Amino acid sequence: MKIAVLPGDGIGPEIVTEAVHVLNALGEQFTLEEAPVGGAGYEAHGHPLPDSTLSLAKDADAILFGAVGDWKYDTLERALRPEQAILGLRKHLQLFANFRPAILYKELAGASSLKPEIVSGLDILIVRELNGDIYFGQPRGVRAAPDGPFAGAREGFDTMRYSVPEVERIGHVAFQAAQKRNRKLTSVDKSNVLETSQLWRDTMIEVSKQYPDVELSHMYVDNAAMQLVKAPKAFDVVVTGNMFGDILSDQAAMLTGSIGMLPSASLDKNNKGLYEPSHGSAPDIAGKGIANPLATILSAAMMLRYSLGKPEQADRVEAAVKTVLAQGLRTADIWEAGTRKVSTREMGAAVVAAL
Ligand code: NAD
Repeated sequence: MKIAVLPGDGIGPEIVTEAVHVLNALGEQFTLEEAPVGGAGYEAHGHPLPDSTLSLAKDADAILFGAVGDWKYDTLERALRPEQAILGLRKHLQLFANFRPAILYKELAGASSLKPEIVSGLDILIVRELNGDIYFGQPRGVRAAPDGPFAGAREGFDTMRYSVPEVERIGHVAFQAAQKRNRKLTSVDKSNVLETSQLWRDTMIEVSKQYPDVELSHMYVDNAAMQLVKAPKAFDVVVTGNMFGDILSDQAAMLTGSIGMLPSASLDKNNKGLYEPSHGSAPDIAGKGIANPLATILSAAMMLRYSLGKPEQADRVEAAVKTVLAQGLRTADIWEAGTRKVSTREMGAAVVAAL
């Protein structure tokens, strides 16, 4: 099996190195091939998603991705900015289903900014549609406002769009994910205001008829944001569109204390996937050797489970992560008094040792 390894920028190379050590420690016959992406792709080939990187990603069975982005590229035209690489990969590979689990390990209950009794035992899954919505909808641009009180002024505009088949596709993925968990699915929209959301809600209700064993409920996105901090354990699986999912999944991530702990998977219809930590390239700590590699290591575990057909190896990696947390090892982002602060390298090595 071939894994494309795309470390990217900032802390990407540091954390991906540790995940690669973990994969190599499993004793499987994986072929790992590395390519530049994001700012590194721009430096090497003049584009954040070079053709050679895209064809490697297309050929591979799965993609292990670090993170992209650095403030120094903020002045480049949008098409050349590092973040375009991830949008391009999602689009080219038709990775439409993003899985973002938010799990609070009991050893880290103190790291959350919420009271332990509200978050302890938290285990929710956010399923976010990745290929549509306002991030990709046309038309978009900057123009002279054609009408309204500010007619003639420069205005920016984007288009929120979802078609019925797109919503059905992510709906099936979410219902099936809920079937494997506690059979509760919350669909998040803004149907009190948006036509797109009304179509989303109507379509989810239609899809739900094929899953009578799953309890479907609906929530407006503003209420979902409130409930996530008020009673997050009431959620099981949440399904939502690209933009709402972008925001809510980061919010859910922070319930767990550190974004450095959270993996993600982006899958196509055949379960080929791109696996990456939920955080960005953290330029503020890049090169310091202090980044938390666990989100990337747990992403590799998701890769073993969803794309490589090795659920028992995924279990081993996740158990090894729990072991190192139980041993009291912490990177700086999750450190608290009474635990041992370790570097990125040491954390990766501890997971390998636990394996
Ligand atoms: P970020 O997630 O990179 O960092 C937010 C904060 O969390 C920072 O203080 C950072 O130090 C900390 N952090 C993140 N990951 C950590 C880890 N593994 N261990 C310890 N601390 C960690 O978000 P940002 O600062 O808003 O963005 C930085 C760059 O990353 C930007 O260029 C942005 O566009 C890009 N970005 C990329 C992705 C991606 O590659 N998928 C996602 C989000 C942001």
